[in-house]
Amino acid sequence: MRSIKWKLITMYLGLVLIVMIVSGTYILLSLRNIEIDKSRQQLEIYAEKIVEQVIEGSEERNFQERLQDTVTNTIGVQGNILNSDGETIASTTALNPPYMQYSDQAIISGMNGEPSFSSGKKSTDSFGLLKEWMSYAMPVLAESGEVEYIVYTRLDASDMQSSLNETTKTITIAVAIALLLAAIMGYVFAQTLTGPILALTKGAKNMAEGKLNQSLKVRSNDEIGQLTSSFNNMAAELRKNMSEISKEKNRLEIILHNMSDGVISFAKDGELMLANTAAEEMLKVEQMDMDFSHFIRTFDISTGVYLDMGNEPSKKVTFPVDKQYISATFSPHYNPKQEMEGVVVVLQDITEQKKLDDMRKEFVANVSHELRTPLTTVKSYTETLMEGALDDRETAMEFLSIIDSEADRMAFLVRDLLQLSRFDNKQVRLNITEIEMNEFLATTVRQNKIHAEAKRQSLSFQPYDHPVVIFGDRDRVGQVVNNIVTNAIKYSLEQAEIKVFITEDDTYYKISVKDTGMGISREDLPRIFERFYRVDKARSRAMGGTGLGLAIAKEIMESHKGRLTAESEYGKGTTMTMWFPKERPELDYAHDFQSGGPTE
Ligand code: ADP
Repeated sequence: MRSIKWKLITMYLGLVLIVMIVSGTYILLSLRNIEIDKSRQQLEIYAEKIVEQVIEGSEERNFQERLQDTVTNTIGVQGNILNSDGETIASTTALNPPYMQYSDQAIISGMNGEPSFSSGKKSTDSFGLLKEWMSYAMPVLAESGEVEYIVYTRLDASDMQSSLNETTKTITIAVAIALLLAAIMGYVFAQTLTGPILALTKGAKNMAEGKLNQSLKVRSNDEIGQLTSSFNNMAAELRKNMSEISKEKNRLEIILHNMSDGVISFAKDGELMLANTAAEEMLKVEQMDMDFSHFIRTFDISTGVYLDMGNEPSKKVTFPVDKQYISATFSPHYNPKQEMEGVVVVLQDITEQKKLDDMRKEFVANVSHELRTPLTTVKSYTETLMEGALDDRETAMEFLSIIDSEADRMAFLVRDLLQLSRFDNKQVRLNITEIEMNEFLATTVRQNKIHAEAKRQSLSFQPYDHPVVIFGDRDRVGQVVNNIVTNAIKYSLEQAEIKVFITEDDTYYKISVKDTGMGISREDLPRIFERFYRVDKARSRAMGGTGLGLAIAKEIMESHKGRLTAESEYGKGTTMTMWFPKERPELDYAHDFQSGGPTE
């Protein structure tokens, strides 16, 4: 891996190497130049000495002798005198001729009257060994100005070379040691630099894996230290944000899963994103796992609902699931770029609402129907009267009494409807008192006896063996008892036996009215408490019933926190039972006793 550490070490070593090579080369070259300058000086001085001591004031033939006498304190320096043709005529390298002949660039310069120095010239010495020489040629001019002699001095450069080699070796060793130290230092330096970076990298990796609970140690105050503390701050901030987001998510999930409306969300490709518990319950599925088109097909929702609903804000559809009615609102949702992201479906169980709606419609139809019949009768009799029947007093009286009873009928109907409407609107006020039922029932039964006797029925009340005190509104309780006793008389043939009696259990006193009348069939029994429900419409109407009596009685019993139930066997008889709680009931506010106030 080309890590920063190795890059740094390489850079460090490269730098040291360059510096050392440049400075080493410079040192070596300087040293060499100094050495060469020194040698040149020595050669010049020696040449001048030869001119002074040998050539000046001496004959050419004495040159060799005198040259031998010149001494130099520098080892390895050779002195030669050459004539103007460049031939050696005296030399310190040999005692007698023949002398060594030289071919050197410096000599040629000297022959041209120019003193010249040359270095690095390779040539053999007097023993025939190839050596490197530094040489100096100095022309000696005659009085005429022509070059007469050339003093040629030379020096073996190998000593200087070896000392330079020694220096090179020293420098090379120094470079090697410097490199080693640089490598060690570079490593340590890179380590201190990359250590925190590696720690940061590891921290970031951990963070990406979701481990946000970490804090890195800040070891220095430099940029990396600042980066580390920024990283720690970022981690803390992320932790905070994440916990807030997850809290928010939890809250939303709790809301979503506890709301009574069903929520289903589909992505733009129709894939199911989420469905809450309420949605699964409403759709009666164990686990919602259908995509959009499957959902549409399963519940047979075809009316204009598409995944891409264009610009339509939302669409409401109602569909049945078993016996329930579900209303679904399809709303597309968009991202900030206004591109459709998917569809949210909100489901509501509207079964109750639909039932109420249907009931309301049925009720209105019933009321209209109930009012229309007497109105039609009144209208037709009035017309007949106006057309002349008025003149026939007997017929007129008969018609008028029919009109009167139809008007009564309508008045009863309106009275009953009003009473029901008060219960519906919770406008009924109950004047709750303690009622002793033995006495109360005895009176009520006595008042109804006359009607029973008219049909030769026996109506009796069996007093209970101890006082029975219930809490109720006298008028209302009387209304219920009367209604039930009247019904028993009405819906029983002659000779029937009607018994009123009291029983009790732990929580209720039960007042029952049992007749041996026509009874109610099993299918009709659960419906007799419904408004306008009559088993035999003609008979009921003939007997002045509105079909609302039991509905009102039931409302009254419920407003007393009691119940009204019916048991019956078709053709044998019916037992209606009123249940009164033994404890004084906590009535709803609207039903509370208001001192001195009206009872309705
Ligand atoms: P109605 O004004 O018709 O009497 P109710 O609400 O009092 O209306 O009664 C509803 C229906 O229940 C009656 O039409 C009748 O068919 C049936 N019913 C009530 N009481 C009895 C009973 N004791 N025996 C048989 N049928 C009864």
